[in-house]
Amino acid sequence: MARAKNIMEATADPLDAMLARLQLSGIRDQLDTLLDEAARSNLSARETLILLCEREIARKDHRRIEMALKLAHFPAVKELAGFDFEAQPSIDPKQIRDLAASRWIANGENVLLLGPPGVGKTHLSIALGREAILAGYTVQFTTATTLVASLAKAHGERRLDEKLLALSKPKLLIVDELGYLHAAHLFFQLVSRRYETGAMLITSNRSVAEWGTVFADPVVATAILDRLLHHSHVLTIRGDSYRLRAKRKSGLIKTPTAGDGPPVGSASLRPVTGANNLQPRS
Ligand code: ADP
Ligand code: MG
Repeated sequence: MARAKNIMEATADPLDAMLARLQLSGIRDQLDTLLDEAARSNLSARETLILLCEREIARKDHRRIEMALKLAHFPAVKELAGFDFEAQPSIDPKQIRDLAASRWIANGENVLLLGPPGVGKTHLSIALGREAILAGYTVQFTTATTLVASLAKAHGERRLDEKLLALSKPKLLIVDELGYLHAAHLFFQLVSRRYETGAMLITSNRSVAEWGTVFADPVVATAILDRLLHHSHVLTIRGDSYRLRAKRKSGLIKTPTAGDGPPVGSASLRPVTGANNLQPRS
């Protein structure tokens, strides 16, 4: 037994063991290839070390991004590259590219994406969330209904504080499809908790002017809006559902937005000039 152990130790590569202990799996897995590469390119010791570090960092970044994408719970894979800006002239591509740089997330600001069904709100929210992850931020995606249900459940189990703390962890919280909420006061607690510390991206097919009725409680609605709009970017998407474009083109459908999701078309989405009036006060 003791002899077998000695043989093992003698044959095991001490470098391999050290790389494992330092958790440098990128270097460890490709060591021979990397050293060959360095030798072929006549790299100095310093250059070789740089090459090894670069590979390790690339591996760690890749792993972090994979893990963060899993933890974000995006409902689909959507990227900015796949967004057809020409089909959606009410969106300024420059503004989206600015937001994709994720500075607003560093500053704990909010983005409100408003517009009728099918115009790409969820697509853009996932795509911006993905950019945030690439930039190194933690992101969590949820729908408003799921979010409020989980807050209500935690409240019932006297764990609300714990839940609010967990939801204040990700640097960006995406709340998709904000509509009628029966427990708006719980949502208010979350918004207060994250205020000026964590960014939120909220999508809704209701204009800001409608939120008073959407939340059933105008006082709570005002308090929520007050915090959300303080440092915010409000984007209103107009136009027809992207989903129905192809069908419309083939003549299957005549009226825009007909039969697409809840009965909230572009007509019921009042202009967001109201929201803009409420916009940044500082
Ligand atoms: P919303 O959330 O506003 O209801 P979605 O983001 O779910 O709309 O968009 C509906 C579908 O249409 C999705 O599959 C989305 O990827 C696609 N889509 C919407 N707008 C665009 C666009 N401008 N370019 C490419 N795909 C789009
Ligand atoms: Mg959506």
